[in-house]
Amino acid sequence: MSIYRGLDKLTPEFRKQVENWFKEKVTIKGVTKKVSDLVFVTETWRSAERQMQLFKQVPRASWLDGVTQRSLHQDCLAVDIAFTGNELYPKDQEYWRAVADAAKKHGIDWGFDLWKWDKPHFQDAKAPYIAPDEEYALVQWQIEARNFAMKANITNGERPLDPMTRVEMWETSRKLAVYITSLLK
Ligand SMILES: [Zn+2]
Repeated sequence: MSIYRGLDKLTPEFRKQVENWFKEKVTIKGVTKKVSDLVFVTETWRSAERQMQLFKQVPRASWLDGVTQRSLHQDCLAVDIAFTGNELYPKDQEYWRAVADAAKKHGIDWGFDLWKWDKPHFQDAKAPYIAPDEEYALVQWQIEARNFAMKANITNGERPLDPMTRVEMWETSRKLAVYITSLLK
């Protein structure tokens, strides 16, 4: 499954944010460089099939399966990056911090600031934000529900890719979670 890294598939607005971020200058250890000289884009838009592939990897490369849980990469609102030079993913946090602070100026959030993992990931700060515990609980709940349905032969686990947006999906998940919680009381 091919990896797409062109900026052309991002939404026009988010693309502009990324381009302006890459024009910023940052100083790390006394050396000033343009962000575009420090990092490069490794992935932008992602198909549902590729997202599912990442979900099925062992260990999981993503908790989002691309169907019940959409990645913002599918919605053209996220990019992954790596650093030029010897270390693609530097251990020295100073490099990441400088690049992430520059991103913040252009309305782009860093995955590591949001969830304390996924350093290569940057996304539109206007995209719906899910708190880590809530995200984890909802994902777990959906996995459990799907496993139950498969074991009970209610479904073979396959369903057509549905056109729900991430916002609609979270709203539906929240309503279901509230409903189930009320049944347990
Ligand atoms: Zn990402």
